[in-house]
This record gives sequence, C-alpha cells and structure tokens, in this order.
Amino acid sequence: MIQYSCDRCKRRLDPQEDLRYVVKVEVSAFMDPLESDEMDDDCDHLLEVQEIIECSEDEESDQIGDDVYRRLRFDLCSDCYKRYLLNPVGREPVEHFGFSEN
Ligand SMILES: [Zn+2]
Repeated sequence: MIQYSCDRCKRRLDPQEDLRYVVKVEVSAFMDPLESDEMDDDCDHLLEVQEIIECSEDEESDQIGDDVYRRLRFDLCSDCYKRYLLNPVGREPVEHFGFSEN
C-alpha cells in the first residue's frame, strides 16, 4: 500500500481518514517580445518558447535549466492546504504599521 505523507509538515496521511490535497505547479519562463517594427515577431517568440518546452519534455535534456521550466507536485494535508492557499507564492509577511502597544 502506498503511504502518503504531507510534503509540508511531514504528517502521515491515512487514506481512510485524511483528505490528501495534490498541488501541481507548472512554472515556465515567459519573455515579452521585444518591440519591433515587424508585427510577425510576436508569434515567432511564443512559438519558440513552446518548442523549447516540448523538446525538454521529450528528451529530458539538460539544456533547459530549472529557471526556464519546472513542474512541481506536492501532497498536502488539509491543514497545510489551507495555509498554502493563504500564501501560494510564498510572499513575505506584511508588516503592520501604526498599531504599536506603547
Ligand atoms: Zn501538512
């Protein structure tokens, strides 16, 4: 039997009792096409990125670095799932101003 555990808090997930949330993140680098007099350039740039991604999937080559394309997958317990949704991009906590207790 496959045992799942939460990737965040490492808690074991009981398939009989615990809901397991699967988070799939796909990250790909996009570059806005440089402004150019030639209108057709827009399509070409998009196509190139697409081709690069497809190539990397086919060959699993090392030519595409992690900074261009990544696919991540996490198993989360319900608690960690809720926390993840509150801050999916991992931003720094916001400082609160003006409410000091002095
Ligand atoms: Zn968890």
